[in-house]
Amino acid sequence: MAQRVDIDSHKIIEVYSPATLEKIGEVAVNTPSEVGAAAARARQAFRVWSSLDIKQRSEIMLTARDSFVSRREELIELICAENGKPRLEALVEITYVCDIITFYAKQARRFLSPQRVTPHLLRNKKVTVHYQPRGVIGMITPWNFPIAIPSWKTLPALVAGNAIVFKPATDTPTLGQRYVELLVEAGLPSGVVNIVHGGGGKVGEALVRHPDVRVISLTGSRETGVAVLKAAADGLKHVHLELGGKNAIIVLDDADLDLAVEGIVWSAFGTSGQRCTAASRIIVQRGVYDELQSKLVSAAEGLRLGVGWEEDTDVGPVINQSALEKIDSYTQIGKDEGAKLLTGGEVASNDGLEKGFYYRPTIFGDVEPGMRIAQEEIFGPTTALIPVDSFDEAIKAGNGVKYGLSSSIFTRDVNKAFRAMRDLDTGITYINAGTIGAEVHLPFGGTKDTGNGHREAGQAALDVFTEWKSIYVDYSGRLQKAQIDTAE
Ligand code: NAD
Repeated sequence: MAQRVDIDSHKIIEVYSPATLEKIGEVAVNTPSEVGAAAARARQAFRVWSSLDIKQRSEIMLTARDSFVSRREELIELICAENGKPRLEALVEITYVCDIITFYAKQARRFLSPQRVTPHLLRNKKVTVHYQPRGVIGMITPWNFPIAIPSWKTLPALVAGNAIVFKPATDTPTLGQRYVELLVEAGLPSGVVNIVHGGGGKVGEALVRHPDVRVISLTGSRETGVAVLKAAADGLKHVHLELGGKNAIIVLDDADLDLAVEGIVWSAFGTSGQRCTAASRIIVQRGVYDELQSKLVSAAEGLRLGVGWEEDTDVGPVINQSALEKIDSYTQIGKDEGAKLLTGGEVASNDGLEKGFYYRPTIFGDVEPGMRIAQEEIFGPTTALIPVDSFDEAIKAGNGVKYGLSSSIFTRDVNKAFRAMRDLDTGITYINAGTIGAEVHLPFGGTKDTGNGHREAGQAALDVFTEWKSIYVDYSGRLQKAQIDTAE
């Protein structure tokens, strides 16, 4: 299987469906000098693209939206085949992509209007603050949302007037390719969005280090984030990092347990647990621990594993062999640590599932907050039940990991809900809902090791892709030297 192994030594990435192991395509790996050529093309195109007015840029984006709508079925099928998600999740992803495009295309004028037109200290002077595009953006993305994550980055970058060199993950390169083709077909001037293929070590690093690339926007693991930050340091680049998570759902004694079970099942096992926001820790107050555990195990055992394009599939495969092995190794780690395996904990290899990378939804009970299965990102369908005595202990356990992406609490006590909103140290908090999901107009990202303080989506994304420029207009017609006097 030529996926996720050392792609850097390959000339071709062969793409196999994680659902069936059938070969579904291939793309050529680019050389570092081809990455340089793509960056140079983007630098040229930036001049043209940034000189268009916002309305022209937005109209091209809206044309692209129409292409995504009309190619929806094709894209859904490709997501099911290449990424492995169930059809419903693929549909949600494409719908979300269309929403992202509409949002940025329609809000661009408002977002990019001069900000803070303020009076100057002197009478005949005005001061405004403008957004300026930054130039060439290097975008590096993972495979778990192969079109939505690129869209999160592309749309705000493009409407602001930047050009892009995009490196998709090596597990989903044909989706990346198709994504760029649809943008180009919509009328983007040549060179505004460029795609390069290859592994992180060679092609990714060449992109990060290229002097024409001013901004790197990466979504990936913590380890990759650190490597990218180091590689970008010499060039003093702007680096936007969206990294891992170890998200917790807290269930208090007064919670609606059926609602909690529903939220946990989809947060832990949706997308086979391969979401940065997946709930891999369930912190449960002891009064409802046994009941929640038995409801949850029975719900997990009722999930149907299968290929994404079959309507009754709840959980698809994981992305590749090494992911399957990593997930399975954490089952052993959990057992060795003394946690109680309640269900799952094995590769699914019957009824045709042996032809793909399927792992049974896995739940551990009696997990201590410090255990590795409760601390490290597994990125698979494994979750850990952690019993606690009180609300305070739950918040402490919730915050006791290095990541800070998403959190959730199920409770009917409004005071505890508000305290949790304040005290959970994550970028996103849900009350009486699971940990997954995102709305395009809200900032998305996390605290601590989940990133470096930037956010995707909403107006916040513009902070990554634009510079502030302060402009002073003096209409007094004479040199005003009295600023100091006035300040005094
Ligand atoms: P990964 O870090 O292995 O790879 C992400 C991308 O970085 C890929 O395109 C890869 O080729 C590239 N890359 C790897 N090493 C590089 C290097 N040294 N220089 C430049 N590029 C490099 O992550 P993955 O396995 O594809 O995705 C899973 C990870 O992504 C998880 O940790 C998950 O939590 C995280 N994630 C975060 C978010 C978020 O918004 N916070 C969203 C989705 C996924």
